[in-house]
Amino acid sequence: MKALDELTFDNRFARLGDAFSTHVLPEPLDEPRLVVASAAAMALLDLDPAVAETPVFAELFGGHKLWAEAQPRAMVYSGHQFGGYTPQLGDGRGLLLGEVYNQAGEHWDLHLKGAGMTPYSRMGDGRAVLRSSIREFLASEALHALGIPTSRALCVIGSSTPVWREKQERGAMVLRLAPSHIRFGHFEYFYYTQKPEQLAELAEHVLNLHYPECREQPEPYLAMFREIVERNAEMIAKWQAYGFCHGVMNTDNMSILGITFDFGPFAFLDDFDAHFICNHSDHEGRYSFSNQVPIGQWNLSALAQALTPFISVDALKEALGLYLPLYQAHYLDLMRRRLGLTTAEEDDQKLVERLLKLMQNSGVDYTLFFRRLGDESAALAVSRLRDDFVDLAGFDAWAEQYKARVARDGDDSETQRRERMHAVNPLYILRNYLAQNAIAAAESGDYSEVRRLHEVLNNPFEEQAGMEQYAQRPPDWGKHLEISCSS
Ligand code: AMP
Ligand code: MG
Repeated sequence: MKALDELTFDNRFARLGDAFSTHVLPEPLDEPRLVVASAAAMALLDLDPAVAETPVFAELFGGHKLWAEAQPRAMVYSGHQFGGYTPQLGDGRGLLLGEVYNQAGEHWDLHLKGAGMTPYSRMGDGRAVLRSSIREFLASEALHALGIPTSRALCVIGSSTPVWREKQERGAMVLRLAPSHIRFGHFEYFYYTQKPEQLAELAEHVLNLHYPECREQPEPYLAMFREIVERNAEMIAKWQAYGFCHGVMNTDNMSILGITFDFGPFAFLDDFDAHFICNHSDHEGRYSFSNQVPIGQWNLSALAQALTPFISVDALKEALGLYLPLYQAHYLDLMRRRLGLTTAEEDDQKLVERLLKLMQNSGVDYTLFFRRLGDESAALAVSRLRDDFVDLAGFDAWAEQYKARVARDGDDSETQRRERMHAVNPLYILRNYLAQNAIAAAESGDYSEVRRLHEVLNNPFEEQAGMEQYAQRPPDWGKHLEISCSS
């Protein structure tokens, strides 16, 4: 276990130089205080969880202090936003403080979001508000606990600094951890500004640091792109299987590591709704729940375009062609497991589709349905779940097919079935209304609810005593909360 002053820095991205990022110091928050910290994320840096409670922790992650070896940098990138190209974006309110490595030799970028203005702030104030910082913190750690690749969050630091959004709010900072903060938009920036040397340097950097095994391949860059395609297909399959809606899948929010990144107006589905749009500024539903699948491929094609100086168009197209079949295989595999199936049959895809259609028509809770399906034998479970459906004849027909399918899958005891299913079907999910309750309390100075919710979501598959209220459908007020981009 390390103390805060024992972190070891490397700063390999900073060493790429001024064409890639600019030196900027964090702008401190007034009266910084710890809102919540993740012991699991602290362990990634070998940090003793007790140090979160020390005043220096809030000072470091509230922008007051800095390690001597840290090299805070604002990164430049660009990207396609809602389908249109924006030539210059960048860290407008976040800073890469430095790269730290732990005792196991793993490298982690420390990124402080809400750290003040940078050369890339455009019209923004460089700040993040408490509400959005809590949402990013909870989502990162909850996705990780569900087994979905994501950036991590070390802590949220609150403050008395006023920040104007639709109304006056308070500034906060979230410390994000990821092995890299390089986005598809980094490649696009150097490609569209016609800087071939820097583009090549960036590609080498990513290959060496994050895809070293691709070096062994005859065409290392192509192998790396294929790997990025595969990781994205798998990540998005997991989003779809667990009902996660990212909300702003612009190419500047897509990580080259295939991890969930840059949280804005995200949501987990309550009722199943394939057409759900979580970002109320997304008028056309470009990033609706079901559109995430084709958008994943669209984003990868935007990255492919930026890699055309290194890889032939035919090879890039072939690699892009891997996306959909890989996505489908991962998705179906997960959905089979969510249904308690251990074998594969050709018609399983249809079984899943029919179920989702019925759930859509009846507004059935996506998380609780699967959880309850595993509570008992297939026959008992479907007979209890039947009441949630409006189209009873439709559900009965599906239930017969499901029971027959379960019978063909093989014999196991009710206990085995429950254990197997509960291990993949969470009881607790980060519902918008739960986050909203925790935020409302935190805004009035009470951080206990954020901390409790974080703890519950750390173990989403295990029933926790006294936590029934976190495993309920949303109350009426919590069903259609509007989450905006203003964060
Ligand atoms: P996002 O939608 O959060 O992914 O941000 C898109 C771009 O706007 C990025 O370049 C951000 O750094 C920038 N940005 C967002 N909010 C702010 C803010 N409050 N101040 C400065 N830049 C911001
Ligand atoms: Mg972003």
